[in-house]
Amino acid sequence: MGPPGAGKGSLSNLCINHFGWLQISTGNLCRKHIAEQTKIGKEIDLIIKSGKLINDDLITSMVFEWFDENADKASGVILDGYPRTVAQAQAFGAMLSAKFPSVRVRVVLFDLTDDVVVNRLCSRYVCQNKDCQAVYSLTADSSLVSSGTAVCGLCSGILGRRDDDSEIAVRKRLEIYHRHEQQLIDFYQSNGSEIMRLDASKQLSQVFGDFVHIIGE
Ligand SMILES: [Zn+2]
Repeated sequence: MGPPGAGKGSLSNLCINHFGWLQISTGNLCRKHIAEQTKIGKEIDLIIKSGKLINDDLITSMVFEWFDENADKASGVILDGYPRTVAQAQAFGAMLSAKFPSVRVRVVLFDLTDDVVVNRLCSRYVCQNKDCQAVYSLTADSSLVSSGTAVCGLCSGILGRRDDDSEIAVRKRLEIYHRHEQQLIDFYQSNGSEIMRLDASKQLSQVFGDFVHIIGE
């Protein structure tokens, strides 16, 4: 759990490579279902086209299906972008205790101030090559843009900004995020789950070191 730009995706990738864990991203799952025109995919497609938000039940059934097919393939699963609401957290918890009672849930909270998030996201460049999507920071590498040609060092793709990385848009996303974050923290605390805090303002390699330490792997 953490605000946009906290480095959840980067840390996930390290865990996948290092521990062989699997990652479930509801955003990617939605796109996959839509592309494959599954029953869930068609429903999601309709909802998006009508400008509505995808409801908790649909997201939850998608996650359950994924768990049925994949949960026994790895020693760990990273949930990225789920559960986002208390309703999702309750449904997910109920499914786990019914079907996978031995699975242990651990909540890791990425700690980062809003100002750092704004600073990071507003200086973020993303490779426009869909197969690459490497992320670059203007603050970390000012030569990227001063040279006039912002090109990906991995695939030579063009680097660009995301539409939703303007300061106003980022502050708005943070406001929504914090509302859900506090509710989820309250939910997991009342549940007796341990919430581990991670200082996400550090360099990625340090964050990974801290993470490995707190989860005791
Ligand atoms: Zn690239």
